[in-house]
Amino acid sequence: MSHTTPVCASGAIALEDRYGAHNYHPLPVVLVRGEGVHLWDEQGRRYLDMMSAYSAVSFGHSRPELVQVLVEQAQRLAITSRAYHTDRLGPFLEKLCQLTGLDRALPMNTGAEAVETAIKAVRKWGYKVKGVAEGQAQIIVPAGNFAGRTTTIVGFSSEAQYRDGFGPFAPGFVQVPYGDIAALEHAITPQTVAFFVEPIQGEAGIIVPPAGYLRAARELCDRHRVLLVCDEVQTGLGRTGRILACHHEGVQPDAVTLGKALGGGLLPVSAFVARADVMAQFTPGDHGSTFGGNPLSAAVGLAALQLLERERLSEQAERQGQYLRERLLALGHPAITDVRGKGLLVGVEIDRRYASARAVCEALMHEGVLSKDTHDTVVRLAPPLVVTAAQIDEAVEALQRALRSVEPERRLAA
Ligand SMILES: *Cc1c(COP(=O)(O)O)cnc(C)c1O
Repeated sequence: MSHTTPVCASGAIALEDRYGAHNYHPLPVVLVRGEGVHLWDEQGRRYLDMMSAYSAVSFGHSRPELVQVLVEQAQRLAITSRAYHTDRLGPFLEKLCQLTGLDRALPMNTGAEAVETAIKAVRKWGYKVKGVAEGQAQIIVPAGNFAGRTTTIVGFSSEAQYRDGFGPFAPGFVQVPYGDIAALEHAITPQTVAFFVEPIQGEAGIIVPPAGYLRAARELCDRHRVLLVCDEVQTGLGRTGRILACHHEGVQPDAVTLGKALGGGLLPVSAFVARADVMAQFTPGDHGSTFGGNPLSAAVGLAALQLLERERLSEQAERQGQYLRERLLALGHPAITDVRGKGLLVGVEIDRRYASARAVCEALMHEGVLSKDTHDTVVRLAPPLVVTAAQIDEAVEALQRALRSVEPERRLAA
């Protein structure tokens, strides 16, 4: 399956370019259809999706069971606001609690909103339960974190571009190196209310912390009465081979944020799920969202969680992820300096002297595989969890050809 450079027949790229904000740099492909692990462009070319919309499409594109729930619910009742109860919300919240082992769930729409909800909950818990002096609460975050794009969230990012020009930022965040338990211990003060951590840093380039890091963080948090909040917006819901990535270390967090795949690849659905005493900080009027928890999202979210369990997609991700990493390592390609990740959240580090990750992703696109570079040197491979071994073979062979095709770039650069 070889592809030539896509010609944009409809002028769609030009329109986006002319009328859109230039806050993304998409690959030059115009997608018009998706089904399972595949996407099609305007010319009818088929691509294997190895990106899954940053893990939002874990169940595959337009998964029929989920589309059916979406359509039926849209026809029955879609949006009510939380001014009223609906018959859909309770079962969704119950399932979220069952799957995470936590007590209560608060539905939102995007990952960033779930994280904002977490910030509010842990601060108020700090003041009302831990007894931190008003306005003094501190949240510890690792460098390299990614938790969304609101001003508060980019304010605790270590990424210069995420922050540049967007300040002033909210105080109350303390940064420590990721994976460094001694630094975490050193940073904890009586004002520390929570440690927010991604079990694997996705946007930072699929960074896996040293084994035992989360478990040690759990012990430190227990000792100092600090809430452990795992941001599982990207790593959660089977992606890394467990329902939650923190389960790899047998860690039970005090709260988690979920998003991305929670919407079944059809809608933005997110949630903050927490221990009862943390969630108890919210009383009517404290927090909310016009769309959060709407019956359409709740119905699709519940169906997505049921599908995750019914099809044992975590196990599938574990098995296929293992196979993907083995195949990538077996390539023994000199441009590949590292293959890392867990389950189907895999990062391939490309030697910068060989090619940029962007160039590799463009070449991959021409080979019929869609992926996305992160941080200049990492190609992210995170297909829908329903990907087959044969499709993984296809992706790895395409990567091999893509690396061969960027070789001239290396000779030019030399
Ligand atoms: C994507 C992501 C978010 C933000 O989600 P949005 O829906 O884009 O707001 C938060 N945390 C992590 C770990 C993410 O990967």
